[in-house]
Amino acid sequence: MTDIEYIIDFHLGGKRQGPGSDKETLKALSFIDIINNKDLRVADIGSGTGAQTISIANNIDGKVLAVDLFPQFLDKVNENANKLGLQDKVLTMEASMDKLPFITNEFDIIWSEGAIYNIGFENGLRQWKPFIKEGGYVAVTEISWLSNNRPSEVHEFWTNAYPEIDTISNKTKVIEENGYSPVAHFILPNNCWLDNYYNPMEERFSSFLKKHANSKAAKAIIDGEQKEIELYKKYGTYYGYVFYIAKRI
Ligand code: SAH
Repeated sequence: MTDIEYIIDFHLGGKRQGPGSDKETLKALSFIDIINNKDLRVADIGSGTGAQTISIANNIDGKVLAVDLFPQFLDKVNENANKLGLQDKVLTMEASMDKLPFITNEFDIIWSEGAIYNIGFENGLRQWKPFIKEGGYVAVTEISWLSNNRPSEVHEFWTNAYPEIDTISNKTKVIEENGYSPVAHFILPNNCWLDNYYNPMEERFSSFLKKHANSKAAKAIIDGEQKEIELYKKYGTYYGYVFYIAKRI
């Protein structure tokens, strides 16, 4: 197994592959003034197993296209959509978020929770803009500093892991500079990290290690996650996932 295959196998067991909740997805939807339009087209980029794909599909008239690099996640999206009778509203596409085969103005809304960092916030916003109709929306979550002063340990960890991490005011500026008008932002509450992401993940640690006979690669994944969890518990007031909702102008 390659390192990536281990990571996919580990995350396939979770309902979510990043912090979030149905409640916060619906809150983000509530800021979008076209949400009650008929026949909306939404793309959910970096959908993972599709927790938010399903929430959106359940709350709009139209279709949601879940896009991910890894077909194993998309199989889960289809499985979940079928179980809920949403197979006509949920579509899937295997593609890289920096090489999307979309056409100009194809979507009313581009959604992305816990995923845009893979190609960088500004790069993603810039590349995806042409695919959104004028007056359409982008809604993304992005890890952000919640204060301009923070202890060096947490500063160094996240700056190393994701150099583009920045304050909400600087992220908002990036939105403004790339052809969007900021509509709202809010910080995901702690339960999105702990109850919905880290705690269920911790419950999978031992079965994952067992399944892979305590292999070095499996242990490395668990060690990395444990470090991240500890850091969040210690410094979670200094950073968070922020939902940014903006209109394409
Ligand atoms: N939105 C989901 C998953 C977040 S994890 C949730 O909130 O639960 C990030 C996702 O981005 C993973 O599913 C990963 O496979 C996907 N991803 C990583 N790089 C990608 C790329 N270049 N193109 C498309 N998807 C990518």
